[in-house]
Amino acid sequence: MRVDVVSIFPEYLAPLDLSLIGRARRDGLLDLAVHDLRDFAHDRHRTVDDTPFGGGAGMVMKPEPWAAALAHVVAAGSRPGAPVPHLVVPGPGGVPFTQALAHELADQEWLAFACGRYEGIDERVYEHAAERMPVTVVSLGDYVLNGGEVAVLAIVEAVARLLPGVVGNAASLLEESHEGGLLEYPVYTRPAVWDDDGTTREVPPVLLSGHHAEIGAWRHAQRVERTAARRPDLVPAAATVTGLDDLEVR
Ligand code: SAM
Repeated sequence: MRVDVVSIFPEYLAPLDLSLIGRARRDGLLDLAVHDLRDFAHDRHRTVDDTPFGGGAGMVMKPEPWAAALAHVVAAGSRPGAPVPHLVVPGPGGVPFTQALAHELADQEWLAFACGRYEGIDERVYEHAAERMPVTVVSLGDYVLNGGEVAVLAIVEAVARLLPGVVGNAASLLEESHEGGLLEYPVYTRPAVWDDDGTTREVPPVLLSGHHAEIGAWRHAQRVERTAARRPDLVPAAATVTGLDDLEVR
């Protein structure tokens, strides 16, 4: 997968060099380039923002640098027969980012991200881009960040770990929270008995039994219970996906 990110703070994306994502880049599974929006400004101050028409607080990102930056991304990444990128614009007014959307994005060959700052990007940039490539505005959640970079870090990480070969043990992806609708069961490791400053905390005995069917049943019950307790909004969808009849909100 190719990924291009446009930002006025390219250094904000440095964590994409670390851990599994960094390794995926070095292994050639993820071809990721970060572009500085200011390189596409046309004045000597490299201005990318201006005051909003109609008045109001804050600044708005100007359209011309964005048009030039997106044209550069498309030209730099295009190959004969290759598609145009799918442009993701992070924004609190977008569609919610979910595991289902992460899977959809992971199916794309090429993603581009436009990181807004200030009060956001001039609305005409969305029209301009949509005439050239698919565009999706994606929200990380119902709150407001200072810029799109944090959202890009989250989205790229969630998408890249779904690419074949990025996570070593692909089976570990299957039972994770939000795969199939339920949250994951609680997990434990050694020691089986932990003396926590005078309080003894034990691992549930069934996990030490070696009885795989019982462990599976316990984990399933834990997933159902945890989902109902923490995310009752997920229960109807999970029941549809899994056909479970024991999903009850308590
Ligand atoms: N004035 C905008 C509004 O009310 O919708 C918010 C602008 S915000 C201060 C600046 C940038 O942060 C946005 O353009 C977007 O790139 C990013 N951002 C803020 N909240 C976000 C969220 N919940 N999800 C994704 N991106 C977000």
